[in-house]
Amino acid sequence: MKRKEKTEKKMKKTETKAAVARTDDRDCPFHGNLKARGRVFEGKVIKKFPNRVAIEFERMVYVRKYERYSKSKTKIHARLPVCMEKDIDIGDLIRVQECRPLSKIIHFVVISKVKGKEEKRK
Ligand SMILES: [Zn+2]
Repeated sequence: MKRKEKTEKKMKKTETKAAVARTDDRDCPFHGNLKARGRVFEGKVIKKFPNRVAIEFERMVYVRKYERYSKSKTKIHARLPVCMEKDIDIGDLIRVQECRPLSKIIHFVVISKVKGKEEKRK
């Protein structure tokens, strides 16, 4: 059971942070049935909704006509599990991972917090 071991490791990580609210949150990669797989992105939280956050990050896009790169911003809506709701605020840098489509616009889930608003990155 490779998968089980993996999720257990992840759980320990979050448990040390705060008393984890063990609700019956089905769409949680740590306590629920939601499987996070696929691409991983890091971005800044720009909006917060109940059970959902919007993150934004910059990426470089090659413009062939000018043979140069231009900056482009990507916005992603991600499911915010109940156990992480208090931990994550607007301005934080977080990590999201792709999951199955949870709604028309949500196909990512928050997996960890990289740094807070004012904290310096290690
Ligand atoms: Zn949870």
